[in-house]
Amino acid sequence: MDLQRLKQRLPLLDYLRQQNWMGRPAAAGRELVGLCPLHQDTRPSFYVNPSKNLFYCHGCGQGGDLIRFVQLFQHLSFRESLAYLEQQYSPSAESAVAVLEETAAFYQRQLQKHGEARLYLAQRGVRDPALIQELRIGYAHGGNLRRHLAAQGFSFDLLRRTGLVNQQGLDAFYRRVVFPCCWEGHVVNLYGRSIGIAFPHRFLPGSRGGLFAWEAVRQCPIVILVEGLFDLAVLWQAGFRYTTCGFGTHLTPTQLRQLSSPPGRHVFLAYDQDENRAGQRASQALARQLQLLGAVAFLATLPNGEDPNSYFVHGASAADFIRCLDGAQSL
Ligand SMILES: [Zn+2]
Repeated sequence: MDLQRLKQRLPLLDYLRQQNWMGRPAAAGRELVGLCPLHQDTRPSFYVNPSKNLFYCHGCGQGGDLIRFVQLFQHLSFRESLAYLEQQYSPSAESAVAVLEETAAFYQRQLQKHGEARLYLAQRGVRDPALIQELRIGYAHGGNLRRHLAAQGFSFDLLRRTGLVNQQGLDAFYRRVVFPCCWEGHVVNLYGRSIGIAFPHRFLPGSRGGLFAWEAVRQCPIVILVEGLFDLAVLWQAGFRYTTCGFGTHLTPTQLRQLSSPPGRHVFLAYDQDENRAGQRASQALARQLQLLGAVAFLATLPNGEDPNSYFVHGASAADFIRCLDGAQSL
């Protein structure tokens, strides 16, 4: 993709807005001004000229076009920035996003038709219909996705490349409760929890984005970090909306960066308290990593054998969980 076409396809201002930048018209009228995403800005000093497709910051002195911004913001070289933008905004990436969005919507409708999936959610303590709607939880009954997506005009090749179906055209997700994983406002992956005898956890191949529901949490000075999406769902339901999930105990560099910027955020790790102490060791290692990056990490102590999901399923209340947070140890 050549440079001019890329910049036309994706105006600088659109990209900034996707990164949650907010600007208001500057005094002169032609420009927008807001807080600078490139330095710790307290007074709006970041100016964007949409007609010229350029930015300039009076605080840190940085300025330039979209590519320059991506270089600085994502810490990439010029060449890497181009590759990143091409990959994120190529027509094939757009159709992959579209097919995942359509699949997530399809699975959401399936949840209404299949009592066994709603029963499973209830058994895992997830009962609030508004929360189920908000997290866009769905159900893959299996056996009908390919036909549905083909009728919507998606090619078989695309379905295979996204991993939604295998070579034979069979659904990757079969009898699974599904949570869409979003990144920069788009569905980028699906997590499927088996309600039957198949291996419990499954994702599609490819990126899972950063931390789950990060847009909802990123402004919070205190964050609870959990291993699994059912942990997150019961905590949100109990009012702990500042909970995010890293899909396991090992975080990616992107997820670590999210938690530790800006520095000083308090991160409460609420991981499984398993008998063989593997969970405790993993959370201690992660806490040390986070401290090195500038976050303040605490280890929440749940009763033996419990994770946040099972703790609530076994009857814990929000007050019980607050006691776990109060008793949390820093390193
Ligand atoms: Zn700046």
